[in-house]
Amino acid sequence: MSRELTNLQMCILMRNGMQIWIDKEKALKLQDILQGIDNNKFIRYENITINTADITGIFTPLDLDDFIKIKRGNWKCKRGNWHTKEQDCDCPEDIKTFIIDGKEFTKDNFNLAVRNKEVDYDSKNDKWFVCK
Ligand SMILES: [Zn+2]
Repeated sequence: MSRELTNLQMCILMRNGMQIWIDKEKALKLQDILQGIDNNKFIRYENITINTADITGIFTPLDLDDFIKIKRGNWKCKRGNWHTKEQDCDCPEDIKTFIIDGKEFTKDNFNLAVRNKEVDYDSKNDKWFVCK
């Protein structure tokens, strides 16, 4: 069964999934009635009526992604990686410092040293070196 969708109709979506299509004019009246009911949970937004009791939240795409993962039982370890609920975190420790030509760098001051050209990359020998 197919139906032709027109902008002149609106759908009353029931909680059980049933769709009741009515003329837009009648729908506007129903929207007013719903909003007029005491202690109603309905709001009108961009011409559609929403039952706020059915809203779980309003998320950014990233937050929604996290939310869905948590709902599925996944968890985020302190290194920021996701694991399934059966999985333990076996992510490698972050490298805190590293040594180039006997000089110790953290990630931050290494990036600064690269910008200041205090260190450079020797592509022939595939290693970093401290500029003299
Ligand atoms: Zn981990």
